[in-house]
Amino acid sequence: MSLLFLERKTIRLVFPFTSHKTQLTTTTRSFVENRIIYNNFGFPILTHEYHYSISHTPTLVPDDLCGSRGVWIKASYINHSCYPMVRRSFIGDMMIFRAQQDVPADTELKFGYISGLEELHERQSKLKDYGFDCDCQICTSEKNTSGKKMKRRMAICQEIVDIFEKGASTSLQTYNNLLDKMEATYVNPPSVEYRRAMITPLTNIITGCLTSGLPLQVIELVHRLLLALGFKIEVTKHSFRVLQWGFLIDEIVISLVDLCDAYADVEPRLLADADGVAKKCYLIMCGEDVTWEEAYGRDKKRGGTRSGMGMIERTEDLVEGVGGLKFV
Ligand SMILES: [Zn+2]
Repeated sequence: MSLLFLERKTIRLVFPFTSHKTQLTTTTRSFVENRIIYNNFGFPILTHEYHYSISHTPTLVPDDLCGSRGVWIKASYINHSCYPMVRRSFIGDMMIFRAQQDVPADTELKFGYISGLEELHERQSKLKDYGFDCDCQICTSEKNTSGKKMKRRMAICQEIVDIFEKGASTSLQTYNNLLDKMEATYVNPPSVEYRRAMITPLTNIITGCLTSGLPLQVIELVHRLLLALGFKIEVTKHSFRVLQWGFLIDEIVISLVDLCDAYADVEPRLLADADGVAKKCYLIMCGEDVTWEEAYGRDKKRGGTRSGMGMIERTEDLVEGVGGLKFV
């Protein structure tokens, strides 16, 4: 897991080309414009601020956090995958690339032009704007999954979301049974096809367990989320470590912080290791970890975590998010 490279923005974009002094022919100008349109990046000035916003108020990301655009020449050569092995982040006009999984020698590096959390048809539509049909392992797996299985997967996902929205009292076993049924709709292992549709149900249930003060269930569910996203974790009495890295998203950082809170309550010997993994994920996501302590440090009042056992700090957000969920 290492820093791959840094690159500073090299071209400042000015649209449209309006100067009457330009010597470019219309055809040449169109060619240059198209190259820039296909290769420019939208970016936040500080990725850690963007991470915090979309992790906690996903519908309220301020425009000024992601409204800048620019061209980075080397980065423009990197192709897309919906299951990327590289994560990019920004500090000002510096673009940072970090591996988010172990990368064998001579592997073509790919990152996500889009979040990868969209439905197949939405991803394909967005990627068409870049001029190609995505045939990555995720898209291929989903295209090869029968319509019946896809419908069943989404119906179960909706069933879980509906339970949350109604704020019904439901047993954790019921949720686990529904998650098992979702899992059964996937043909390939998570290392090939991460369980995109299970992310929202799982994170909702984790939040429900947090609000209900159930640390053991939080531990079980965060492990289930990590497995669903292709991670392989080894846990012994004294250690917690990642054997294989999976699909890394902002939510994983928060879930690992939740895991740390649960470990602090019931398995404090595993806390340091889990905290180290959470910090590493933050480093990969945000490009730096100097802001880690401010965001999630354990010896400071948490600005970032969903809760913390017995010390829920964002009650209004949580109630709004889980609809008064109770476990029975
Ligand atoms: Zn794809």
